[in-house]
Amino acid sequence: MAMRKVYLDNNATTKMREEALEAMLPFYNDIYGNASSVHQFGREARLAVDRAREKVAGLLGAASPEEIIFTSCGTESDNLAVKGAAAFLRSKGNHIITSAIEHQAVLNTCKFLEKEGWKVTYLAVDKYGLVNPDDLKKAIGDKTVLVSVMHANNEIGTIEPIEEIGKIAKEKGVLFHTDAVQTIGKVPFDVKKLGVDLVSMSAHKIYGPKGVGALYIKKGTRIIPQQQGGHHEMGKRAGTENVAGIVGLGKAAELAAKEVFKEGERLAGLRDHLYKGIVSGIESVRLNGNPEKRLPNTLNMGFKYLEGESIILNLDMEGIAVSTGSACTSGSLEPSYVLAALGIDAAEIQGSVRFSLGRDNTKEDMDYVIKVLPPIIKRLRDMSPLYDSRKRHD
Ligand SMILES: *Cc1c(COP(=O)(O)O)cnc(C)c1O
Repeated sequence: MAMRKVYLDNNATTKMREEALEAMLPFYNDIYGNASSVHQFGREARLAVDRAREKVAGLLGAASPEEIIFTSCGTESDNLAVKGAAAFLRSKGNHIITSAIEHQAVLNTCKFLEKEGWKVTYLAVDKYGLVNPDDLKKAIGDKTVLVSVMHANNEIGTIEPIEEIGKIAKEKGVLFHTDAVQTIGKVPFDVKKLGVDLVSMSAHKIYGPKGVGALYIKKGTRIIPQQQGGHHEMGKRAGTENVAGIVGLGKAAELAAKEVFKEGERLAGLRDHLYKGIVSGIESVRLNGNPEKRLPNTLNMGFKYLEGESIILNLDMEGIAVSTGSACTSGSLEPSYVLAALGIDAAEIQGSVRFSLGRDNTKEDMDYVIKVLPPIIKRLRDMSPLYDSRKRHD
């Protein structure tokens, strides 16, 4: 019998859904026009791009499709939002506020801006990964022009109080960007309700293709484009549109809008089943992140006395794909800066594993993990010097 394959790394990327792939295929052969061309070939491509724009606008609750521009990925959307807004607002001030647990796409963009003379405040988070809105209030000064706080964290799934943050930013007349790459399609999302000016998203996190993203720019919000070229995407993002990719994103967005409620509930049920199975079968485990304010698909667990890497490799041999923190930071031996910001000590950070569920996962998948994981943990702990010394001290 073939080994069961269980993919639990959906926060790193998702499998593209069939409907998205099917929608894209004609745009790789029959419909090849440049969306900026005036002839029939071009108009066909333009129509497809505009339809996709409407669908993404619908998923986000945007007032108009013109508030959506397409980019090459979530990282580009974050860069464009933060650098583009900062550049436009430079004459008003030189201070940006973000959080300590942002994705690297925002964090490293802020670090880059620091080298360009910007001052950046990195808000601390509590032990669950939550930003305190009062801290934000205190941090906003005369020179503050932009706040960028992610909607939900990719490693622990904690959902930030974006509505409150949006209100504070608005009161103080400061622009507000949120990286919603992990929430869009997973929890109901509405730009009007959240009070955001700029929102980043990525297709490959919502069962669309890799290499395409979008940035919501609220009507009236000005940014300076970050690459020079033609007048594509309403003059905000030069470069011939990735028509097929955009069509795939549109399809994924359309279906996400329809399914988000039901699928969110289903995933939360599976995730909680997995959590219960893990804590009942294994001792000395901890939940990293907020138990309630959390993405329905995300479970980050700390296994004391162990190295997350060795758990991952052992699970991989059983056909189960999980990760330590984020895909973008794995490969580095640095402990997760997200878990460190929660105040978790370095040894415990090392033993942390992220299970991120997706639409293909079933209860049988969870039961398989619940069966396979305890003996792996036991075997690794029996070999672990940390666990061994604990036994001697007990
Ligand atoms: C994946 C991710 C990104 C980057 O998106 P890409 O499309 O992979 O560049 C940004 N922010 C968060 C929170 C993510 O999870």
